[in-house]
Amino acid sequence: MISVEQALDKILSYVGVLEAEERPILDCLGQVLAEDIYSSINIPPLDNSAMDGYAVRSGDTRGASRQSPRFLRVLGTASAGSITEREVAPGTAIRIMTGAPIPKGADSVVIFEDTDETQRRGVSTEIGILSEVEPGLNIRRAGEDIAQGSTVLTKGTVLRPSEVGVLASLGRTTVRVIRRPIVAILATGDELVDIDQPLPAGKIYNSNTYSLAASVWRYGGIPKILGIARDSEDSVVARIRHGLDADMLLTTGGVSAGDYDVVKDVLAKQGEITFWTVRMKPGKPLAFGTIKAVGKAGVASNIPHLGLPGNPVSSMVTFELFVRPAILKMMGKKNLTKPTIEAVAEDSVVNRDGRRMFARVRVEKRHNQYFARLTGPQGSGILTSMTSASGLMIIPEDKAEVVAGDIVRVMMLDWREE
Ligand code: AMP
Ligand code: MG
Repeated sequence: MISVEQALDKILSYVGVLEAEERPILDCLGQVLAEDIYSSINIPPLDNSAMDGYAVRSGDTRGASRQSPRFLRVLGTASAGSITEREVAPGTAIRIMTGAPIPKGADSVVIFEDTDETQRRGVSTEIGILSEVEPGLNIRRAGEDIAQGSTVLTKGTVLRPSEVGVLASLGRTTVRVIRRPIVAILATGDELVDIDQPLPAGKIYNSNTYSLAASVWRYGGIPKILGIARDSEDSVVARIRHGLDADMLLTTGGVSAGDYDVVKDVLAKQGEITFWTVRMKPGKPLAFGTIKAVGKAGVASNIPHLGLPGNPVSSMVTFELFVRPAILKMMGKKNLTKPTIEAVAEDSVVNRDGRRMFARVRVEKRHNQYFARLTGPQGSGILTSMTSASGLMIIPEDKAEVVAGDIVRVMMLDWREE
């Protein structure tokens, strides 16, 4: 049996960063930029007003106050989206809206609140300025956000909504990103029925395909659902064939030591097994290897295959520990691990068989300290124990018992407590 670290290293050594492709910017959320982005324009393109008010020559406001307004002749109104040809000459002002380019001659904007506009009825040809302004007040400078010619985003950046917005502000409709991996998912088991079918006696619904496909989406991959294979080599081989164009193949079930656990046999015959069983709980019967495939243009390739255990919790936990980092690596990301925190254990947990245990816990923060409480029975078939969990308490192989009050490490799955 190998350790969790050895297993992860092995898996990651079999996956590489995928190619870049040009995609519409809205499809790229969470993807890694594969080009440097330069700006050919200034943003904003022109000096413009940050507020609604009057564009003035600051010198004309010298000495202005509520008690002694300075009166200026109003030449018109400048609104966002058009450039006014009018010039603010000494003794004049132009009414201006937020975003409108600053007219020639003006060097500052006096906000409405600092004028007597509200005291005037209707359109007035004169405005009283009630306070002195400095040059540059309420003016957004051309290029103050992005200067023409500058590098705005660098290769390797993970695109968040703000980066998508910056790309849009440059007028980019598409961008080069590392493509999303396609992850094929096959459930195995004679007991499984798909969710759109009636449930005969003795059968259960195939939930793993859906929790795993949702996990693939969550971390940026594209799931390709291969359905359910029966517990026979022929059935597994026939279904796997539809997934040979994927970047990674996941199967669930059929990797234990039982009579009908055929996935290992398929792996051994159709490719090679790199390891089987990891010193962890849940998730011990994890199998990893490669399946031979003939790719585009007849080139032979090996698709990494993770044979996840069938138990619903085991398949989700092994996904988090091994599949998620592989997906992130393929997407070109650098940070492959979930954040961990230190917390006070609120329950005692026994871990006597020398494996690393991942106990489902709900983490709460009280008085600036995290506390981790078990979500209930830890059976690896109890999927609802995952729905109430926000993290996995990590109990090392050599720690036979965690006692309530001990400080433990918790790998966070979500931050729903905050
Ligand atoms: P296995 O690893 O095939 O021995 O499966 C272990 C347990 O997980 C058994 O109780 C299975 O019924 C259950 N199981 C396997 N595959 C799935 C699945 N796709 N959805 C829900 N439960 C499953
Ligand atoms: Mg099975």
